[in-house]
Order: sequence, then structure tokens, then C-alpha cells
Amino acid sequence: MYSYLHDVARRLIAFDTVSAASNAAAAAYLAGELERHGFRVACQEYESGGVAKVNVVATAGPPVAGGLIVSGHVDVVPFANQAGWTRDPLVFAVDDVRAYGRGTSDMKGFIAQCVAAAAAIDHHRLARPLVFLFTADEEIGCCGARRVVPELPALVGHAPLPTLAWIGEPTAWRVHRAHKGIVVFTVTAHGVAGHSSLPERGQNAIAVMARAIAVIGAYQTELRAAVAPASAADFPECPYTALNLGAVAGGSADNMIADRCTLTVSYRPLPGEDPLAVHAEIGRRIAAADLRDPGSPAAPGRVDVGAPTVVAGMRSPRGTGLAAALAAVLGDRITADAGGAPFATDGGELARAGIAGLVCGPGELEQAHQPNESIARAAFEEGVDVIRRVVERLCAAG
Ligand SMILES: [Zn+2]
Repeated sequence: MYSYLHDVARRLIAFDTVSAASNAAAAAYLAGELERHGFRVACQEYESGGVAKVNVVATAGPPVAGGLIVSGHVDVVPFANQAGWTRDPLVFAVDDVRAYGRGTSDMKGFIAQCVAAAAAIDHHRLARPLVFLFTADEEIGCCGARRVVPELPALVGHAPLPTLAWIGEPTAWRVHRAHKGIVVFTVTAHGVAGHSSLPERGQNAIAVMARAIAVIGAYQTELRAAVAPASAADFPECPYTALNLGAVAGGSADNMIADRCTLTVSYRPLPGEDPLAVHAEIGRRIAAADLRDPGSPAAPGRVDVGAPTVVAGMRSPRGTGLAAALAAVLGDRITADAGGAPFATDGGELARAGIAGLVCGPGELEQAHQPNESIARAAFEEGVDVIRRVVERLCAAG
């Protein structure tokens, strides 16, 4: 009964779609299958660092308001130097209770279910559009979604676009309405090289960076205290913008004055807030601060705050038609409103286009990015019918 689902999963997992590699072959396979099932397929091709990337958009149903976008990312996280694998990550394998392979939970398992559901959908019954959106480069900052979402009206060839999106990231079918964004940037302190015996002839970039880190730390204390009620409900474990100092590098020897020090900073802005506000405020505070090297206090310290990479957050309204459909199909065994997801998704980019996303998928977060990644076989196999029934509720006549 599930032989086609297993076949699609086997084919998908065999494509090495680690984000650094091209996903073009996997995208061509998906496009071919969806075309065969009667969908109108449009591919957005682009290059990233000289590597060919493809976002796949497949549409069925009439050009009317309503309908649904069902979305997943085709890329996976690396496995080559990951300890703990006892299986081939690119070989789909099943035993009685689980299915194994890179991407089974995050999230080729869901995409395979979408393709199998696409084969089972009666196009004559579609009264509203159904759009499958399969993206590249989600794992490295939702880069594929950032490119494809603004082009969706043209790629779908439909007006209007559906305003609901289902993102099948691994949640063990729990339904999340929200997630934070992620903003990453580099801070660079510039000093003047010299011999450590004569500190005033130089300027120590590490000492300058220490001042900048103190400025960021003071702001971090304020951010921790700034908790909005909606954030407390959606993110009870961390209801504020979490900030992290990721990596610091500077200096080359104990008797040398460091002329350069770099720091990577990331933070997770709450949905509904300007994701760049914290970056801008850090820039303002560092520009206004005393950043002098205590060993060479005559010169002002110089620190650049680099341009940010932004993954958007998401906060969708309660009570959408998709929420009702998922609750009706999945029933009591799932948490129908699990609040904020602990990770970011392509849903943030969809939210920027006014599309309300929900995150809910068959995989398990504990399996995502892990060696010997797997998915419960029951959740994997039942998902085809879950998708078919949700689509039926949102896109079929009657
Ligand atoms: Zn994922």
C-alpha cells in the first residue's frame, strides 16, 4: 500500500542535498513526479556560490481565492564528518518501527508524503488552489524561501495566492503557530599591531573588543527583562530576544599587540518585532561607547558592526482554517496549539508575504540533524492520508 511512498523517500534520500551541494537533481525528480500527477510545475533556478539551486512550485486547482500552500525544504544538514552513523545516510532503510536516512525526519519524509498525496488527489474535486512549495537552502538561513516567496505570484501563475501555508518541519504532528527569527552578524575590532613591551605604540584589538562585548552584555540584560505577554505565552522557556556570542578570534602571540579581533553575534528576535532593531541598537551603543584599549588610552577604539543575515520570525493568528483542518484530521492525540516552535522555518519568509503558516510535521525534532536520523514508521506512512484529508478540507468542493 505504501510502496510508492517508500519509493519516493528512497529516491529523495539518495540525492545528496546537503546545503553546500546542488539540489538540482532532486528538484528535477520532484518536478517530474508532480507533473506526472497533473500539477503545473514552475522551477526557480539560481546560483549560490557557483552551485545550482532550485525551488520547486507545483500548483493544481482553479485560480480562485483560498486554498493552501504545503511547504518543505529539500536540503539537509551535513553528515560526512558527523560521528555516530552506523548506516549509510543516503540509503533509505526500514525496520518494523522506524525508517532511516538523512532527512527522514527533517524533512524529506514529509516531502515524500506530499508527492504520494499528490498522486492520490482527485484534481476534479479541487475547488481551490493547492500549491506544493519545495525549497533549497533552508538549513543555511532560509535562503531559498527568501528568493522564491516574492516570486510566488508569478510562479504559481494564480491570483490570488493562498494565504495559508503548512510547513511540515519535524514536530511529531504538534502544531506551532509561531517561531522566533535569527539574525547573525560579525563585529570587528581594529587595533594597531606592535610589540607588547610598548603598548602605547599600538592599540590592542582584543581589549577594544572586550569593551564592545561589555556593551553588548549590558544590552542583553535589558533584553532579558523586556518580556511581552504574547511572548511569555508562546515562548515560556525564553520569552525575550535571546542573544549569543558565537565565536571570537583575535591575536597571534603572547608578546604581540593584536591588530584585529572578530566576534560573531546572533540573536533570535521575537516574531512581530522588527528583526533588525537589536542589530541597529547594538550599532548605536557601540558607536557611542568608550572603546579605548586600557593599555593605550590615547586613541579611540574602532569597532565595525557588520551587515546582518536575517531569518524572519513567524506569528500566525489563532483559529485559521488550516488549524481547524489539522485538528480535525489529527484529532486528540496531538497538541493543536503548541505555541512557539524552538526553531526557525521558511514560514518566516511566507509571513513577510502575508501568508499565515503553521508548523506541523511527522518527523521528530530529537531526530533532526542527528546521526542515524530516523522517523517513526507509523507517522511516516500515515502522513500521506493526513495530507490528503487536510487538502480535502481546505481545497475540495463542498
Ligand atoms: Zn528542517
